[in-house]
Amino acid sequence: MKALDELTFDNRFARLGDAFSTHVLPEPLDAPRLVVASEAALALLDLDPAVAETPVFAELFGGHKLWAEAEPRAMVYSGHQFGGYTPQLGDGRGLLLGEVYNAAGEHWDLHLKGAGMTPYSRMGDGRAVLRSSIREFLASEALHALGIPSSRALCVIGSDTPVWREKQERGAMVLRMAHSHIRFGHFEYFYYTKKPEQQALLAEHVLNLHYPECREQPEPYLAMFREVVERNAELIAKWQAYGFCHGVMNTDNMSILGITFDFGPFAFLDDFDAHFICNHSDHEGRYSFSNQVPIGQWNLSALAQALTPFISVDALKEALGLYLPLYQANYLDLMRRRLGLTTAEDDDQQLVERLLKLMQNSGVDYTLFFRRLGNESAALAVARLRDDFVDLAGFDAWAEQYKARVARDGDYSEEQRRARMHAANPLYILRNYLAQNAIAAAESGDYSEVRRLHAVLSKPFEEQAGMEQYAQRPPDWGKHLEISCSS
Ligand code: AMP
Ligand code: MG
Repeated sequence: MKALDELTFDNRFARLGDAFSTHVLPEPLDAPRLVVASEAALALLDLDPAVAETPVFAELFGGHKLWAEAEPRAMVYSGHQFGGYTPQLGDGRGLLLGEVYNAAGEHWDLHLKGAGMTPYSRMGDGRAVLRSSIREFLASEALHALGIPSSRALCVIGSDTPVWREKQERGAMVLRMAHSHIRFGHFEYFYYTKKPEQQALLAEHVLNLHYPECREQPEPYLAMFREVVERNAELIAKWQAYGFCHGVMNTDNMSILGITFDFGPFAFLDDFDAHFICNHSDHEGRYSFSNQVPIGQWNLSALAQALTPFISVDALKEALGLYLPLYQANYLDLMRRRLGLTTAEDDDQQLVERLLKLMQNSGVDYTLFFRRLGNESAALAVARLRDDFVDLAGFDAWAEQYKARVARDGDYSEEQRRARMHAANPLYILRNYLAQNAIAAAESGDYSEVRRLHAVLSKPFEEQAGMEQYAQRPPDWGKHLEISCSS
């Protein structure tokens, strides 16, 4: 275990130079205080959980203090936002404080979001509010616990600093961690500003640090792009299988590592709804739940365009062609597991589609349905779940198909079935209304609910005593909360 002042830095991105980022110091928050910290994330830095409660922790992550070896930089990037190209974005309110490596030799970027204005702030104030910082913290750690690749969050620091959004709120900072903060938009920036030398430096940097095995391939850049395609296909299959809606899949929010990145008006589905739009500014539903699949490919094509100086168009197209089949195979595999199946049959895709259509028509809770399906034998479970459906004849027909499929799948005990299905089907997810309750309490100075919710979500597959209220459908007020982009 390390003390806070014993972190070891190696700022490889900063060393790329001023074409890639600008040195900026954090602007401190007034009266910084710990809202919540992630023990699991602290462990990634070899830090004792007790350090989070010390005043110096809030000072470091509230922008008051810096390690001598930290080199805070605002990164420059661009990206396609809602389909249109924005030539310059960049860290408008976040700073890469530096790269830390742990005892296991893993490198972690420490990125402080809400740290004040930078040369890339455009019209913004450089700040983040408590509400959005808590949402990012909870979502990052909850996704990770579900086994969905994501940036991580070390802590949220709250403050008295006033910040104006639709109304006056309080500023906060979230400390985000990832092995890299490089986005598709970084490559687009150097491509569209016609800086091939810097773009090559960036590509070399990513290749050396994050895709070293691609060096062994005859065309390393192509191998790297292929890997990015594969990781995104796997990531989006997980989002779709677990009902996560990102909300703002602009190319500046897509990580070159294929992890969930940059949280805005995201949501987990309550009732299953393929057309769900979690971002109320997304009037056309570009980033609706089901559109995440084709948008994943669209974003990869935008990255491919930026890589045309290095890779032939034919090779890029071929690599892009891997996305959909890989997505489908991964998705189906996950859905089989959610249904408790251990073998594959040709009709499984249709079994899943029929179920989702029935759930859609009846507004069935996506998470609880699968959890309950694993509670007991297939026959008993479907009999109990039947009442949630409006189209009873439709459900009965599906249930017969499912029971027959389970019977063919294998001969296992009810206990085995339950254990396997519960390991694939979470009981607790970050429902919007749960986040909202925790935020309301935190805004009035009570951080206990954020901490409790974070703890519950860190073991989403394990039933926890006394936590029944976190495994319920939302109350009416919590069903259609509008989450704005302003954060
Ligand atoms: P986002 O929608 O959070 O992905 O942000 C898109 C772009 O706007 C990024 O370049 C952000 O850094 C920038 N941005 C968002 N909010 C602010 C803010 N309050 N102040 C400055 N820049 C911001
Ligand atoms: Mg962003």
